[in-house]
Amino acid sequence: MIIKKIKELTKEEEEKIINRNKANFEEILPKVMEILKDVREKGDEAVRYYTKMFDGVDIENFKVSEEEIEEAYNLLNYKVIEAIEKAKENIYFFHKKQMEHIKDLKVENNGIILGQFVRAIEKVGCYVPGGRALYPSTVLMTTIPAKVAGCKEIYITSPPTREGKGNPATLVAGDIVGVSAIYKVGGVQAIGALAYGTETIPKVDIIVGPGNIYVTVAKKMVYGDVAIDFLAGPSEVLIIADETANPQYVALDFIAQAEHDPNASCIIVTTSEDKAKEFKERIFKEIERSKRKDIILKALQNSAILIGDLDECIEFSNKYAPEHLEILTKNPEEILDKINNAGSVFLGEYSPVPVGDYASGTNHVLPTSGFARMCSGLNVETFLKKITYQKLNKDSLKNIADTVITLAEIEGLYGHAEAVKRRLNK
Ligand code: NAD
Repeated sequence: MIIKKIKELTKEEEEKIINRNKANFEEILPKVMEILKDVREKGDEAVRYYTKMFDGVDIENFKVSEEEIEEAYNLLNYKVIEAIEKAKENIYFFHKKQMEHIKDLKVENNGIILGQFVRAIEKVGCYVPGGRALYPSTVLMTTIPAKVAGCKEIYITSPPTREGKGNPATLVAGDIVGVSAIYKVGGVQAIGALAYGTETIPKVDIIVGPGNIYVTVAKKMVYGDVAIDFLAGPSEVLIIADETANPQYVALDFIAQAEHDPNASCIIVTTSEDKAKEFKERIFKEIERSKRKDIILKALQNSAILIGDLDECIEFSNKYAPEHLEILTKNPEEILDKINNAGSVFLGEYSPVPVGDYASGTNHVLPTSGFARMCSGLNVETFLKKITYQKLNKDSLKNIADTVITLAEIEGLYGHAEAVKRRLNK
């Protein structure tokens, strides 16, 4: 873990921090391409083969049956079901509010009627991770915005357990939201199946959801055969902490992100050199207590504590474009105005990332690896298309004809010009 003043970072050190995971992407690409090609050519047979290889289980039928869902309910404590219901309510609340802001548009300009209407993408594939941790929360985060947007068919894929079952909480969450089907398939083979379709898994129009580096690279490679939300890979947090930040909270939130994945990244940018030392001490104390120590120790290699004045900290954060940004300063709202790049922002010491991860209502599927520079996190618009239209009459066509004909002819597209000229007997 690098601990240094921002100003004193070498170019290589800064690039290593900013370009997290880039090298790993390139390294695994040939393997991912091979799996995708096999799934495209051999369908279920290839999905079965790779499920055996990576998840260690032989599965005849990937589709989760009604009996399996019933069994999953019986295996779950009622408190888990209640928590799923409560989180569902809050996530619906926020995403319905997003939907209220999406409106059709109809205007007139120089006698031409111009408009835009909104339609939902029909078939959605939601990837729900299930390797190093289980993510029933991701069922809610991916399927609820799709439901609110009005998507007709919503499918879930998620890795099977070693016994060839679906994770009970994932199955119950899918049932509570009401999805079209759930498939016990994970990794690259799941992304390939949703992108190309197999005998049992339908081809979808868009694949959304987070995953490890294999899943993320696979999503990148199937773009074009399907749409994708964006790259939502190994988790990240950047914490802007001034001298008022509570070191215990900083350390806990650092660990909460690092425990996801050895490729996770946690960055603290702080105005206080003394606090930087305290943060480090607390982090190492917390690591000793963690049940996921091995993963966290690996994630430390992608992590850093950096020191600078507040403007330098904000500038670095914008350059890094974190998936999660926590602002633990005296006046966090004042800093919000200066934030240009982040997936989701958590303000003040009582707003830890896990609240947004599970239950407050905002979405936890967020862009990683710097994609927050140009992408928003998952939201209802991810599942919507805006279709434009226009209507002219003879007068409004006359008014605009010369402009269209001149531009068409300069482009050498005389057929375009003729389509206007002939209507007006020019
Ligand atoms: P996962 O479901 O993404 O990956 C498990 C699958 O990976 C397995 O089923 C297997 O098929 C495949 N796999 C494992 N090793 C492989 C190998 N060597 N070669 C090819 N395929 C292999 O579950 P996970 O591993 O727990 O990862 C979940 C990820 O999702 C974490 O990185 C976490 O940080 C991230 N996450 C991101 C967000 C976000 O919004 N960005 C949200 C939640 C979780």
